[in-house]
Amino acid sequence: MKITEHIENAKGKTLFSFELLPPIKGQSLQGIYNAIDPLMEFKPPFIDVTSSREDLVYKESSDGNIQKATYRKRPGTVAVCAAIQHKYGVDTVPHLICGGFTKEETEYALIDLQFLGIDNVLVLRGDARKADSGFVPTPGGHCYASELLEQVTNMNNGIYLHEYQDTSFKTDFCIGVAAYPEKHFEAPNLKADFKYLKQKVAGGANFIVTQMFFDNSKYKEFVNLCRENDINVPIIPGLKPITSAKQLINLPKIFHIDMPEDLCDAVQACKNDKDVKEVGIEWMINQCKELMEFGAPVMHFYTMGNAEPTKRIAQAIF
Ligand code: FAD
Repeated sequence: MKITEHIENAKGKTLFSFELLPPIKGQSLQGIYNAIDPLMEFKPPFIDVTSSREDLVYKESSDGNIQKATYRKRPGTVAVCAAIQHKYGVDTVPHLICGGFTKEETEYALIDLQFLGIDNVLVLRGDARKADSGFVPTPGGHCYASELLEQVTNMNNGIYLHEYQDTSFKTDFCIGVAAYPEKHFEAPNLKADFKYLKQKVAGGANFIVTQMFFDNSKYKEFVNLCRENDINVPIIPGLKPITSAKQLINLPKIFHIDMPEDLCDAVQACKNDKDVKEVGIEWMINQCKELMEFGAPVMHFYTMGNAEPTKRIAQAIF
């Protein structure tokens, strides 16, 4: 079922969902199941599975030469989604990224998803490779999420790449896009970033999932700005409880977000990370309660495969 239908069917009741990473190459799916099992009691209507681009590795061979190779650390997004849907009977949302995929490979992935009965996708540009200073498009791939979105909406209209045979079958994907209440780090300002978000929604995006934030006013202002600008699709807040003191530095560095002063003070007053986790859970419970009151449709957690903090938050709010 489509995410938008889940939200409509809930008739104002807040839903619970979360995001997982596929296993590291060479590991089994059991870790994924261990991260899902404790959260099933909160009846997630959907689970997101991230996608990652290949990275470059340099290896010294026996003759002393350095060899360059590319490898994807966490392959298997489509298959993980299919496995979750099969085992738990919940919908999944595979993340589709521009980086690392040609348009043809994306098309084949979308055909697989359609055949597997996966109705939703979250389309993203994707992160830059570690070795690159910025995002470098894959030759034959897309540069921006809006282009990838266009490919999916084209397929929803029965338009495929290189049409030389009858490809009239229309897919029916419900399409999500990312947004940044505190602005995407490459955008010169929020207004410029917002222009491209409008373009994604005008191009057919059915729902939005936000970057994590720790200050609800950022989300509320962003939702209000969207509504004033005729962006009326559901805006799902992305949420991440703090679990260690070093995240005060790492999360702003990686995700380009601000940490509220009160949260920083509370974390800095902790003796150890066990106490920090308690502060993070408490902060997130309060954040969720306020977001639910504001009318956010879904509490969507970035679990990073660690179910315990999310479970405690869900127990407190649902
Ligand atoms: P875009 O919408 O393409 O925007 C990228 C930048 O370009 C922005 O600064 C925007 O303002 C600008 N821009 C957009 N369109 C144009 C245009 N036409 N011309 C000029 N500038 C333009 N990354 C992964 O690798 N894998 C994941 O699974 C993943 N999941 C994510 C889930 C969520 C909910 C979020 C919020 C992010 C996720 N990311 C993931 C990170 C994301 O890929 C990065 O933040 C990336 O840098 C931007 O992706 P985007 O889809 O927002 O890009």
